[in-house]
Amino acid sequence: MLAQRLNATLQSLENAAIGEGRPVPRLLAVSKTRTAMEIAALAVAGQHAFGENYVQEAHAKIRELATQNLEWHLIGHLQSNKAELAANLFDWVQTVDRIKLVPALAGFRSPDRAPLNVLIQVNIDDEASKHGCDPRAIAGLAAAIAAEPRLALRGLMAIPAPHPELEMRRAAYRRMAGLFADLTMRHQQVDTLSMGMSDDFPLAVAEGATMVRIGTALFGPRGRE
Ligand SMILES: *Cc1c(COP(=O)(O)O)cnc(C)c1O
Repeated sequence: MLAQRLNATLQSLENAAIGEGRPVPRLLAVSKTRTAMEIAALAVAGQHAFGENYVQEAHAKIRELATQNLEWHLIGHLQSNKAELAANLFDWVQTVDRIKLVPALAGFRSPDRAPLNVLIQVNIDDEASKHGCDPRAIAGLAAAIAAEPRLALRGLMAIPAPHPELEMRRAAYRRMAGLFADLTMRHQQVDTLSMGMSDDFPLAVAEGATMVRIGTALFGPRGRE
């Protein structure tokens, strides 16, 4: 069942990319609320990268699955008091949205590990209730991250407002692509634009996503969160 869903998702990702003449983005399996067993089943089917929203929830699963050599991404809001744990639990933190997190993550990342991969989360629809930085703050944050040897600046991440109107979401993805292009000009190592979820990833791919974050289409609907 999970293997079938994975193959179907990879197929539609490939179709969306080929249809738009784009490279096929990486698939991040969003495993919040899923059990370690479900994650292990998807890993057996060939999925390598998983995204979690909560540091504590991820901690338990990452420990349980430690022998599997999976790649773990934090895609939920990071509180400063969790920076120490997050800096060594995850391979990627996709939600750096304020300067305070930069020295904290860099300072705690173990020197025995590869640098922590970092994405800057952008509040692309200027939603008051949302996390993510103002687009005008990207350049300063990027410079601070790039100056830290324990961090690797990889790109941008966004969660657009869930507009029922898909064209509105597409417009947000297009604005992200513009910001991403600006960033790649200033930072050669930047290669990741993380955007698109189960219900709209073809739009994100059309606008140049290099990584999509998909939960429901892989694991089925979530219960209450
Ligand atoms: C839950 C979540 C997703 C996946 O959403 P689905 O609709 O289940 O595909 C992607 N990104 C973030 C940040 C999420 O919190």
